[in-house]
Amino acid sequence: MVSFEVARQLVEQQAVGVCPGEMETADLLAGLGRVLAESILADRDFPPFDRATRDGYAVRAADLGEVPARLEVVGEVKAGDWPDPAQCSVGRGQAVGIMTGAPLPAGADAVAMVEHTSLLVADHSVEVRRSVSAGENFVPRGAEARAGQRLLDRGRRLDHAGIAIAAAVGKSQVQVFRRPRVAVLSTGDEVVEIDGTPGPAQIRNSNSYSLAAQVQNAGGEAVRLGIASDERGPLRSLIEEGLGCDLLLLTGGVSVGKYDLVEQVLGELKAKFYFTGAEIQPGRPVVFGSCEADTPVGLPAVDAVSTRTGVSAPREKYFFGLPGNPVSTMVTFELFARPMIEALAGMTPRRLVFLRARLKSGIRTKTGLKRFLPAVLSGEFENAEVELARWQGSGDIAALAQANCYVVIPPERAQIETGEWVSLLMR
Ligand code: AMP
Ligand code: MG
Repeated sequence: MVSFEVARQLVEQQAVGVCPGEMETADLLAGLGRVLAESILADRDFPPFDRATRDGYAVRAADLGEVPARLEVVGEVKAGDWPDPAQCSVGRGQAVGIMTGAPLPAGADAVAMVEHTSLLVADHSVEVRRSVSAGENFVPRGAEARAGQRLLDRGRRLDHAGIAIAAAVGKSQVQVFRRPRVAVLSTGDEVVEIDGTPGPAQIRNSNSYSLAAQVQNAGGEAVRLGIASDERGPLRSLIEEGLGCDLLLLTGGVSVGKYDLVEQVLGELKAKFYFTGAEIQPGRPVVFGSCEADTPVGLPAVDAVSTRTGVSAPREKYFFGLPGNPVSTMVTFELFARPMIEALAGMTPRRLVFLRARLKSGIRTKTGLKRFLPAVLSGEFENAEVELARWQGSGDIAALAQANCYVVIPPERAQIETGEWVSLLMR
């Protein structure tokens, strides 16, 4: 049994050494949520010209030392126009009408906002009521990025902002890493498939589905292996099958019950355990380990591969044994399995992000475990408040579905008062 922090560190240490899969080409939008296997560079300066950020008049700031000032209007530049300096430039005492997104004509060093001007159509001039400083209301060419500059790093997961960058540099296709294949194996004699009719003492296999959803969300491809009964033989052969994937997630059977056989069977397969149990609630029985792919697990031997450190090592197949209680399964996935999937997908695993909010009503609990309790965050901005969801324990998915975060309670706290600031892990 280790503390939460040690358990998380043990996962992160292993995650550093894993290799992502091979690359593949994806159409840009199909790349959403995928991890870049190439860096994305600026194909030209950004912006590619001095770009007006306001509608108004391109001017020389020095002409507006005293306002109001009257300037001669000598032309107009719309977005998409390219002002030929021979025909459209701003001399002393002159202005050129300009629109947001248009290039600044030669001679100008600022844009006066249209809101501070009045056009005097009859004598082709404009009155400007506010002075501007040189450089105001336009972005100089190359100020956002220079041609060739790296805009997105390899290993970055593409979100909508990343998609915008790739689109802006003209990449209709991107190189991404293959998604890691993550086997999901549920265990338990009481668990039946979701389209069957459960007997009076049976429950449907919700964990395989919540886990598959979490795997997908983390950038992996879930391979649902079904349900293993609480018997050595069938459990072992499904575990062996699961070890053929990039990662194996098991649920159930890791507790201390007479039929909790997962650890024993993994032990028979010469698994190395990094931790068996973490001081958390829910999820205390969680286990993390690996099997060497060339141990007799019924798979063709895999050649030694080089790790990111360049050291040749046998490829390890990692597994997590997650407790079967559905809320425990979900929490332990987020805390421990997610960073491993991110690493296998080619990313640097993200740090856990904790928000802070005031507690709406006090909490009493026992010391000794770090608790992640389903809670409801409501209100906005400085009025945000959080309250524990009313739940019947780690099996209560109905309560979890109503919650939108977990309140994190440090192991040494037995009592937290109304109004105290607490950490939240968003769901
Ligand atoms: P276990 O970790 O095997 O002791 O299971 C703990 C609790 O989780 C028991 O009440 C199980 O019935 C329940 N459980 C185990 N596997 C699943 C599953 N795949 N889907 C939903 N509940 C499960
Ligand atoms: Mg069980």
